[in-house]
Amino acid sequence: MRLDIQLFGALPARRISKTRKRLRRTHLKKEAPTITTCPNCNSPIAPHRACTNCGYYKGKDVLGKEEKVEENKESKKSDK
Ligand SMILES: [Zn+2]
Repeated sequence: MRLDIQLFGALPARRISKTRKRLRRTHLKKEAPTITTCPNCNSPIAPHRACTNCGYYKGKDVLGKEEKVEENKESKKSDK
């Protein structure tokens, strides 16, 4: 697709019409990041990453955050 652009590469700005420039840039856009939920604590996480909240990945506590999470739960209970 759009071989004319690929063949000649960079050109002076006035050689590229507004329409051609805008058509090319229709593909340039920022995509929303993919977000899944942690199966352990249900907080939003990036896929294929350890959970930043509880430190779990594939059912294991890989970051050693288990004790901290328990502390947080206790502090929440004391608030209520
Ligand atoms: Zn989690």
